[in-house]
Amino acid sequence: MPELLEDCPRCGAQRTTFDVKSLNVRKSDHQSLQPVIETFTVCRACGRSTVFNLQPRTVDATALFVQRPAELANKNVNSLVRVNGYVNIGDVGATPAPAHLPDEVRQSFEEGAKCHALNCPNAAGAMLRLCLDLASKQMLTIVPAAAQQPNAQQRKDLAPRLNWLIDNHYLQETCMTWFTASGTMGTSLRIKGPSRPTSLRR
Ligand SMILES: [Zn+2]
Repeated sequence: MPELLEDCPRCGAQRTTFDVKSLNVRKSDHQSLQPVIETFTVCRACGRSTVFNLQPRTVDATALFVQRPAELANKNVNSLVRVNGYVNIGDVGATPAPAHLPDEVRQSFEEGAKCHALNCPNAAGAMLRLCLDLASKQMLTIVPAAAQQPNAQQRKDLAPRLNWLIDNHYLQETCMTWFTASGTMGTSLRIKGPSRPTSLRR
């Protein structure tokens, strides 16, 4: 069977060998052309199992895993794949991010979704509020130079910025429902701005 050299999340052994018992090749959650390979592995140091997420390094590596997995027997696969973490409780029931999101917004969304799945609403609210902050800052970049511009506080702080985007019709008024929800969820906020839902309104 194939072998993988990686740190063991179960026993802490570093750069230890895992026996790859089975492969599950699936489509990436993002826009990557390369699939994700979930591997059921067993650590030779502790005998415990881990499911690693692998990303093929090349198209040829993908073809090998998909079409000719028998050729991987008794071979180390580290030169063919990158290890992108392992399946853990944070992956259970987490809402996937929309496909079109910019990377930094997607990463915050995914972290927030995992916190929500783990029943950590304060952390989830903080991360989803960070998504709003990042996305609304990006929206300011599409405001035409000749159009009315936000002032310094509206550029800097989330709540005034959202109000300005709605008032100037860059966002729909119905978005306020989501904004007020995020304001009530997060208590340990990572961004500066009012947290009371009514403060989003003038
Ligand atoms: Zn181990």
